[in-house]
Amino acid sequence: MTLYPNHGDQTLFLVISGPSGAGKSTLIRHFLDQHPEFVRCISVTTRSPREGERDGVDYFFTPPDAFQARIHAGEFLEYAQVYGQHYGTPRAFIAEHFAAGRSVIKDVDIQGAIQIRRSFPPAVQVFIVPSSRHEIERRLRARATDSPEAIKRRLGDAELELAQWSEYDYLVYNDELAQAAADLAAIVRAEQIKAPGRGGHHI
Ligand code: ADP
Ligand code: 5GP
Repeated sequence: MTLYPNHGDQTLFLVISGPSGAGKSTLIRHFLDQHPEFVRCISVTTRSPREGERDGVDYFFTPPDAFQARIHAGEFLEYAQVYGQHYGTPRAFIAEHFAAGRSVIKDVDIQGAIQIRRSFPPAVQVFIVPSSRHEIERRLRARATDSPEAIKRRLGDAELELAQWSEYDYLVYNDELAQAAADLAAIVRAEQIKAPGRGGHHI
């Protein structure tokens, strides 16, 4: 630790969660375009790649037995089962980027966010609030990546997930994408210039 830390020197772990269809991926893409000091954390998952997804870019796609072995080796900062598939945040990925002075942004489901609050308290947790249930439904249908049954299940989960908002550090309302992106940028700027003293960034 230097005696006088420079403004903007803090590496951050920015955790984004919220109901499916709230706009997390869209916001993260937009954010990364404007924040070259951030990288998106690539998770490990047992699910199969969707069309156009690439191993090592979208996810590290891994068979279930290898995923279990990595749990036992303590390699995940958090892991969870979401819609029948396993997802985990590789600790080493974040540690390596922190060591290189880069910040990390990551979307996790709500179970993952709860675990990260325990396993890495300095993480900055942002909850993306969709405009309305009707709007989530409209966006999920427009995205056209899920079956009608999957959309129904995601909508049911959204009700439970919305009740979690009070556990987060910040709420970003994603009505207008430009406003939501500006809010996220403001959060990051505030956190980057925050005085250190919340326990360090050892991951
Ligand atoms: P999530 O990652 O939270 O599941 P996505 O980012 O995939 O959600 O967004 C779901 C759909 O809603 C996408 O088709 C996306 O283009 C659209 N969308 C996201 N944000 C907005 C917004 N502010 N206004 C209108 N449509 C949006
Ligand atoms: P998808 O399969 O659609 O990419 O992601 C499904 C869900 O898994 C999303 O809610 C996403 O936030 C969540 N997810 C993606 N990666 C991780 C992870 O590493 N950990 C946890 N807990 N959830 C994840």
